[in-house]
Amino acid sequence: ISPFASVELAPRDPILGLTEQYNADTRPGKVNLGVGVYYDDEGRIPLLQSVRRAEQARLEAAAARGYLPIDGIANYNQGAQKLLLGEGSPLVAEGRVLTVQTLGGTGALKVGADFLRAFLPDAKVAISDPSWENHRALFERAGFDVVTYAYYDAATRGLNFAGMTDSLRALPEGSIVVLHACCHNPTGVDPTAEQWAEILEIVKARKLVPFMDIAYQGFGDGLEQDAQVVRRFADAGLTMLISSSFSKSFSLYGERVGALTVVAGNKEETGRVLSQVKRTIRTNYSNPPTHGASVVAAVLNSPELFKLWDEELAGMRDRIRLMRQELVNKVKAHGATQDLSFVVKQRGMFSYSGLSAAQVETLREESGIYALSTGRICVAALNSRNIDVVAAAIAKALK
Ligand code: PMP
Repeated sequence: ISPFASVELAPRDPILGLTEQYNADTRPGKVNLGVGVYYDDEGRIPLLQSVRRAEQARLEAAAARGYLPIDGIANYNQGAQKLLLGEGSPLVAEGRVLTVQTLGGTGALKVGADFLRAFLPDAKVAISDPSWENHRALFERAGFDVVTYAYYDAATRGLNFAGMTDSLRALPEGSIVVLHACCHNPTGVDPTAEQWAEILEIVKARKLVPFMDIAYQGFGDGLEQDAQVVRRFADAGLTMLISSSFSKSFSLYGERVGALTVVAGNKEETGRVLSQVKRTIRTNYSNPPTHGASVVAAVLNSPELFKLWDEELAGMRDRIRLMRQELVNKVKAHGATQDLSFVVKQRGMFSYSGLSAAQVETLREESGIYALSTGRICVAALNSRNIDVVAAAIAKALK
C-alpha cells in the first residue's frame, strides 16, 4: 500500500479553475474577466519596450549564469527599495532597511511569513475581508492563526471604515496586519489619505506589525503616489515588512520578480534580521533566478529606460481608467438604471462589480463572459473589441 494512499485531493484554485473552464469554452465571443493580468487593447499580455531593450542589451552582453547571492542582485534590491521609500530616504541612510530579491510578491510574502513565524510565533495575522485569496492560505501554511478585519461594504460599494478601525483596535497587541498599500485586490477600494492616517495611529497604538503588500504600484495614480502609504508608515518610525511585485508593473508575470523589504529598529538589528531572512531563503530555494531581476534592475538603474517604463506604465494605467469609464457609460447606454459610478472610483486592475454569484453565472452561461463568483472582474481584460458585448451582457444581467 502506498504511503500516499490517504492523501486527499486539495481544493482547486478558484481562479485557475475558472481559466480552465474558459479555455474549454468553444464560443468565439468568450471573454475572461476572471484573471489577474493586464492585457493591452489587442487582448495580449504586453512585452514592454523598456523590457525588450534591457533584454536585448543583456543578450548582447552574453553574461554567464552563475549563482546569485542568497539575497539576489544588489542593484535590483536597491532599485526596488528606492521605488518604495523614495530617493534619499533617511531610513535607508540610517541602515534601517533591508531588501531581498524574491520569487514574485508571493515569494516575498512567504519568506516574510516564515521569518515572522520563527520570531513572532504567537502573533495573529489579520487580513482584510475580503483579500487576495492566497493571503489566508499562505499565512496559514506558515503556521499562523489568520483572522480578518472588516473592509468592504457591499451596501455602499466602498470601504467599511468604521468596521475596519473597530476590528484593528480589537486585535491583540503585536498582531501582524496585512495591508494593501494601493489598488486593493479584489475590491479596487482603497482608504483615503485621511483614513490611512487614522489606520496608522491605530497600528502604532496597538503595536501592530504592518505587512504591506504592494503588488500594483503604478496602477493607481502613479509610481510615486502609490508609494505614499508605505512611506508614511515607514517614516512614522514603525518596524514593518513590505512585499512588492513587478509582475504587473513590468508585465513580467512568469519571471517571478518581487522583493521583500524590512524596516527594522536600528542598523544593528537590520543586520541580524537580514541574516535570518537569508537563512529562510537558503533553506527554501537557496538563491533566486537571474534573468527577470537583471532586466528589471537594468530598467530601474537607467534614467532613460526608467522614463520609458514609467510612460508605458502610465499607458496601462490610463487604459484601465478608460475601460472603467466606458464600462459605466456603456452599461448605462444598454438600459441599466443602477448607479455604477463606483467602478470609476475604484483603483487598480479589479472591480468588485456588485454582480451577484447568480448574475455571474448567467453571464457565463448566456454570454461566455467569465468573472469570479464574488463579482470581481478584471477591468484590465476589457478592450475596445469586447467591451460592448460585456456591457450589454452586464446590463441584461442587472435587469
Ligand atoms: N499580492 C496581491 C494583492 C496580489 O494581487 C498578487 C498577485 N495577484 C500578489 C501579491 C502576488 O504577486 P506575484 O504574482 O508577483 O507573486
